[in-house]
This record gives sequence, structure tokens and C-alpha cells, in this order.
Amino acid sequence: MAAKARKILPQKNKSKSKKQNFKTSFHNNLESKHRLLSYLMDNIPDVIYFKDKKGRLMLVNKAHAKGLGVDPNAVAGKTDFDFFTQKRASMMAKDDMRVMKAAKPIIDKIERATRPDGIDNYVSTTKIPMKDNRGKVVGLIGITRDITKRMQFEHLRREKARIEKKLEVLEELNKLESEFISAVSHELRTPLAIIKQLVTLVFNETIGSVNDKQQEALKRANDNVERLRKLIDDLLDISRIERGRLRLHHSLINLKDLFKESSDFYKNLAGLRGIELKYSLPKRDVNIFVDADRINQIITNLINNAIKFTEEGGTIKIDLKVLETRVRVCISDTGIGIAKKNLPHIFSKFKQVSNLSGAEKKGIGLGLSIVKELVRKHDGEIWVESQPGVGSKFYFTLPRFYTPEVLDKRVKEKIDSLLSKGSSVKFINLVIVDYNEFKEKIKIKPVTLFKNLKDIISASYDTVFTSKNRDIPAIVSDASHGKCSIIFSHTSERKVTNLAALLKDNIKAYFTKNKIDEVFIALGVLSYHKDAKPHNAKHLLIGPSVREIYIGSEMRQHRRITYSTDIDIYFPGDKAQTCQSIDLSEGGICFKCKAPLKTDSEVKIKFDLLKSKKLINTDARVTWIKQSEIMPADPSDRFKIGLEFMNLGEKDKSLLLRELGL
Ligand code: ADP
Repeated sequence: MAAKARKILPQKNKSKSKKQNFKTSFHNNLESKHRLLSYLMDNIPDVIYFKDKKGRLMLVNKAHAKGLGVDPNAVAGKTDFDFFTQKRASMMAKDDMRVMKAAKPIIDKIERATRPDGIDNYVSTTKIPMKDNRGKVVGLIGITRDITKRMQFEHLRREKARIEKKLEVLEELNKLESEFISAVSHELRTPLAIIKQLVTLVFNETIGSVNDKQQEALKRANDNVERLRKLIDDLLDISRIERGRLRLHHSLINLKDLFKESSDFYKNLAGLRGIELKYSLPKRDVNIFVDADRINQIITNLINNAIKFTEEGGTIKIDLKVLETRVRVCISDTGIGIAKKNLPHIFSKFKQVSNLSGAEKKGIGLGLSIVKELVRKHDGEIWVESQPGVGSKFYFTLPRFYTPEVLDKRVKEKIDSLLSKGSSVKFINLVIVDYNEFKEKIKIKPVTLFKNLKDIISASYDTVFTSKNRDIPAIVSDASHGKCSIIFSHTSERKVTNLAALLKDNIKAYFTKNKIDEVFIALGVLSYHKDAKPHNAKHLLIGPSVREIYIGSEMRQHRRITYSTDIDIYFPGDKAQTCQSIDLSEGGICFKCKAPLKTDSEVKIKFDLLKSKKLINTDARVTWIKQSEIMPADPSDRFKIGLEFMNLGEKDKSLLLRELGL
């Protein structure tokens, strides 16, 4: 041990003396110092210069020479007047003189400057007087740093703080305004309802007879009460929207029925004004999860507007289309149309852009902003295409499948607790449609029915899951509303999908065996990535995605994958544009674009498949459009456009399926 220590010690001393030697030799070695200093000068991005007492440059570093656009060796003896404008050079010379006369430095002087190459920037300059051995000032050393980025950042930070403050004030004002509107509107509702009752009482001659003239006057009073009621309802809706209090009550409905129920009413209403109103509805049922009353409100608003802005002899068409993952409604008219410049404002609050005569036709410009919010709340999109003198087409879409909002509280809570533990979640949602009607038709008690359904779930589960890969699901059932959810935390999507398919067959067999028909079961599979945030978190990090959906008789499989590639779009007349795709399915592709395309227009598209590198070259139709709420940094992100493939050949189809992993 001692020997070892002895061995090490001399070595230690050796290295110490080596360091000592280096120190002394470095201090004495002017050449080394000079080398280090010139290395620093030439590699630092800041501008460094030495000037003599007359302001003539003696030495500049590479960065300064580059900025001046000359060779470092060619600047000696020159002054700032040789490179900068008279005004700028005079200012610099003034600072130089101040530093040298007072023998005091100027530190970090921030100013805007134009470089000799014409580029505007912000610089921070430090000037230090240079003295000789006797302390006499003989010149100065200057260091100038480009701080444009820092200044821009600070400017943005200040702007952000200013805007945030303004927003806070505006939000507060908005809230106050909304609360005021809500309070006043509620107060107005009751007396208005009483007036309406009284007018009806007199009109119906319950409290005495009225002549024709009086009846006419009462009818006009009633119409105006109705207008006022609608206005109050709109104000209350806007106030609810702005206070975040608008709640939707989802149920599964057949959208076709919704249109049919009111079609006679609207045909009559349009007919009274000499307008033809036509419906084009698909043959099959269109079952979707929505708030039926609110969807009715959207449709009512759009049809009423179409009637209001269409002249006698015109036509209104209501078209319902089932797209791949959404349904699309179009209400088109041959009315007065909307000028291009007004289109961007059409969905804003209190915006009215057409000049209409006749007080009874006037609203207050709230309808469309409410419609837009209701569509948005349903996870849908709304857009308009219009041409003055030709007519307007209002489109909106609704998702065909479940979104988290439609889930029951207990199901959401279960999913949230799994997500907060970091599990991924898959679940099957089973809903008996029109359950109340259904219950009356069948002889089985709801409790028994649900016990039987649970047995079916259990048996199907045992078939799909062998003992090795069992993930015991949580089953949340609600016999009084005809709903049941089966929630898994570890199982693969494939397994859950297999179970859903088997469940579908077994449940069908059960109803057939028990001679129960006219039952409609919606079965959906939703999966959440393990990084998805719980529903109670402010924002879903990675949203749930519907992988597979089975609805009633049209049970079919969808797989839409995120897909980022260049896609060439050819417009009729040969104009081509390259855009970035977002996602892909066997039915279509979605891409980003800076301008909208016309709905239902046909285009040719070409894109290379990422995996197989094979080219897909096909016709496609524009089916939906989504405009970004805020102006994105990149204008090509402004619109999202959905295309549906048309006439896709067998070869392309199988290429696509392989690409999608199907
Ligand atoms: P309002 O209740 O005043 O009609 P809306 O929000 O429903 O308010 O509509 C806003 C404005 O949009 C209307 O005043 C009108 O200028 C324009 N507009 C809405 N629908 C149509 C249409 N089908 N044709 C032409 N203009 C329309």
C-alpha cells in the first residue's frame, strides 16, 4: 500500500509542475496569447473593431468585415463615413468622441440600424476607451451585437401580454353582457307567454266573439309575439354558448325521419310564397347520435333563411348524403345569394349582409352564428357557397359515429380512471334504439333482457378470449335506458373487434329466437390511445378514435389512418396543385389546402403510396370542407378538404387496402 502511494506521489508532483510550467510559459508567450485572441476575434459572431483617436479603423474582426462587405485587411485607415450613410456615420462618430473625450465607456446602447448590405436590424453596442501605458486615451474598442431576434422575441412577448390582457377584459365584458342578456331574456319570457295566451284566448273567441278585422289584427299580434319569442330564444342560446352553458342531449335518431316529420310543414310554408321545396333523401336509414332538438333547430334556421331570401318561383333543395365517416346536409336555394366579400362574415354574430325590405323578414343576425356553434358542438363542419343572383348552398356535416360527448357519465368515469393509470382503452358500446317504444313491444322485462344480454356477452367473451389472454372487462349497463358498455384496458383492438362482431351475431340470433323484431342495436367500438387524456382533463391530448363501427344492418368496417404525403390535384381545365394529405381510408383522402374547392366538384388526383411506392391515379369528389377557426401560421393549413374516391379500379383498391393494413 505504502509502495503504491509512493509511486503515485511523484507522479502527482510531476503533473503539478507541468501545470506550473504551462502557466508561466503561457504568460510569457505572447504568441500563444495573440493566437487565442485572434481565434476569438475571428470566430465570434459579434462585430469587434479598434479605432484610433480620429475614428479611423485600425483593426476589425471577420464578422465586421463581412458585414461591411470588404476584406478585413482593406479597412485600415477607413472611417464609418466610408461604409454607412452620412446620418448614421455622424451618430457613430459622435458616440466615439464622447467615449474618448470623457474616457468613459458606453455600455449596451440599443439602436435600430441599417447594415451596409441594406438589412434592417437591432444592435447593441458597447464602446470602451483604449488607453496607453500612461493612461492617455489613444482610441477605442467597439463591440456590436445583432440583437434583432431577441428584440423580435421581446416585442412578441409584450404584444402577447397586451393581447392577453385585452382578451381578459373582453371576456369579462362578454360574460357580463351574456349574463345580462340571459337575465333580461328570462324576464321577458314569462310576460310574453302570458300575452300569447291572452291573444289566443281572444282569437279563439273563448271570451267573446271577434269580427274578421279584429281576427286579422290578432293574427298579426300573434305573428309578432312569435317573432319576439324566437328572438328571445336566440338571445338565450347565444348567452348559453358564450357562457359555455349549452348542453346537448344525445340520442340515436334516424335523420331521415327528422326531415320527413317536418317536410309537409316546410313545403306548405314555401308554397305560400310560390317557392318549390324538394327533398332528396337516401334510401337507407341514417342513424346518428345527435341532439335531435338542436339538429331540428339547425335545419329550421337554414330552411327559414332559404325561404326568406328566395323570390317567388324559386326552388329550395334539401339534400342528405351519407359520406364515409359523416353525413352531409345541403340546403340550397335559387335566391338572392351572398356577395363574395360577405361570405367570411356570414356566421358571425349580429351580421346581416342582404338588404331585405319588409320588417317581417328581418332577424337580428343571430341565427347562423347559433347554427354554426350547434354544428361545432356536434363535432361537425359548416360552410357556404354562394353567388349573388344565382343562389346559396349551406352545407353542414355531422359525425356518423360516437364522440366522447355522447357517452354516459359512468362510462366516461371508468374510461378516465383507466386513462389516468396510463392504460389504453377499448370499449364496445351497445345501445338499443328507441328503447322506450321497444320495451312496450316485448314481453321480456328489461331486467331479464339485460341479464340475458350479459350472458350473451359472457359467452361471446369466452369464445374470443382464451385463458391465456384474458382481460376481464368492466361492464357498465343501464337497463332503464337500454345501454351497455364493455370496457377493456389491455386487449388488442383486433380482439375487441372480433368480440364485437361475434356479439352482433349472437344478439341477432337471440332476438330472432325470441321473435323480437324491429329492434335496432347500435354497436360501436371506440379505442383510446394510452396517451389520451381523461375526459375531465381540459384538452384531449390524443383523442379517442373510432376504429370500427357497426350500425344496424349497414354494419361495415372503416379504417382511416393518419397519412402525410404530397397529393397532386388536377382541376378541370388542367390547373394542378400539390397539397399535403392528412388521412387516408379505402373510401377517400383528406388534405390541407389554402383555398376551398367547390363542394361536389370532381377532380383528378395522384399520389404515391408511402409503403408500396405505387402510384394511385384516380377521380375524386369533394365531399366536405372545414375552415380553420384561427388564421394558421401557414396559409396552406387554412382549409381541410375531404375527397371521396370515384371509380377506383380493382388494382388500386387492393393497393389501398394493403397500405391500410387490411
Ligand atoms: P337573420 O336572422 O338576420 O336572418 P342569420 O344569422 O340567420 O340572421 O343570417 C345572417 C345573414 O346572412 C342574413 O341577414 C342574410 O344577409 C344572410 N343569409 C343567410 N341565409 C341566406 C340565404 N339563404 N341567402 C342569402 N343570404 C342569406
